[in-house]
Amino acid sequence: MKIVNAHVHMIELEKMVKKNAGHKVPGGISVLQDIEATMPLLSPEVLIGQMEDAGVSQSVLYAVDAPIVYSSNEYVQTLCAQFPDRLMGFASVNPNDKDAVERLDKAVNEQGLRGLKLHPPLQNFFPNNESVFPIYEKAVELKIPVVFHVGTTPFGSLARLSQANPILIDDVAVEFPDLRIMLTHLGTLSHLEAFMVVEKNPNVYIDTSAYLYEIKELLTMNLITRLGPHKIIFGTDYPMPYAGLIHQMKDFVECLKGLNLTEDILEGIFYKNFETFMNYESSNEDIDFQQFI
Ligand SMILES: [Zn+2]
Repeated sequence: MKIVNAHVHMIELEKMVKKNAGHKVPGGISVLQDIEATMPLLSPEVLIGQMEDAGVSQSVLYAVDAPIVYSSNEYVQTLCAQFPDRLMGFASVNPNDKDAVERLDKAVNEQGLRGLKLHPPLQNFFPNNESVFPIYEKAVELKIPVVFHVGTTPFGSLARLSQANPILIDDVAVEFPDLRIMLTHLGTLSHLEAFMVVEKNPNVYIDTSAYLYEIKELLTMNLITRLGPHKIIFGTDYPMPYAGLIHQMKDFVECLKGLNLTEDILEGIFYKNFETFMNYESSNEDIDFQQFI
């Protein structure tokens, strides 16, 4: 079965450290605990190796334009050019930057990136604030999807959870019914709020890049049926460690396969839903209320 991993990061560690020169990162940040063991995973060759091992044919690389995590649109473009059959890139712009809309246009029209990743708590903005709306308007015009980090983050005092509440994305989904939206990590401990937003809005999808135990506990047939089997998209958040384990893409594929889902549903999660998500032409038609009388 074809498998697409819709949530992968290749961080530019050296640039990130240089960018943060002079700043002291607050101690006790859990994401830094496994950083040494995670570093080898930041090589594109190791990524492709893990994809081979897991039977993943294509991965979606996210740029991240945030102070603490950094991966530029240019870097993602370069990696995608290196492995054009295996990698697809999503751009990142910081909504607080004045040229964010122009940079998004450039990322899609000149750099070949196919979506936008936003991380409200790390980029320090409220996703339902009207000042961000021009970015969503641009995304609709470009016919690209927007991925939002929602729920908790392991970045301690560097991020605020008030900006990561999935409920904020409901406002975006309502204001921009044509915008394709994906929430991440099955909601990252804000599971129920995230599921509410996915169930309610036909234009909101969610990825499975949660901890393995969460996938096993949460992704039941009841939940899948409730959210809509076409709304769930496979992703792993490579190379993030999880619960003290170093990231193995294969573990996530096996976890999904072990859920006893029907072949159809698994096929949707592994690649078909992602294809629909990317295709703006597949949008829902409005219903004429008159037809009910
Ligand atoms: Zn991520």
